[in-house]
Amino acid sequence: MNFEAPPPVLDSARVVFYALVGDLAYRPNNRLYHGNTLVEKVPLLAICENLGNDVGPMLFHCDGDWTVLGVSGGDSVESCKFAAAKRYPGVESRWIDRGVSVGDALNYFDSLPGNSSCSFCGKRPFQIQGGFADGKDARICKECVDAYHAAFVEMANDSP
Ligand SMILES: [Zn+2]
Repeated sequence: MNFEAPPPVLDSARVVFYALVGDLAYRPNNRLYHGNTLVEKVPLLAICENLGNDVGPMLFHCDGDWTVLGVSGGDSVESCKFAAAKRYPGVESRWIDRGVSVGDALNYFDSLPGNSSCSFCGKRPFQIQGGFADGKDARICKECVDAYHAAFVEMANDSP
């Protein structure tokens, strides 16, 4: 079975390892849901680390196009591999190192449509709360809107 390597980043997380499991016998383990849909046997797995908040390595359960169908956590890369092997015995010898640095992953993330940073504070989408307002050639995050708003109110109050 042919398969393509995943992009350097899946869902704002850097890909560390990946593996093909679609041809392995599947052994149901604890249930994993995506929304209300039970995620069972998938063709591809990836072990990823968030580019934003460090929540530790995560095991991504993906379809054949590397769309993430479900995520389960792990304390370490080894525990993610252990959890994967419970569902997909034989995956142990299949993990491929994606070999992408955090810097390269961030550059890739920035290049994706809609992922540009706040033009004012430089924070990336996964670093901000409350979303962006997009202008002609710039975007501003809610945190900056709030900060500039407060500054303008203060200026107005100071003026005679
Ligand atoms: Zn900002």
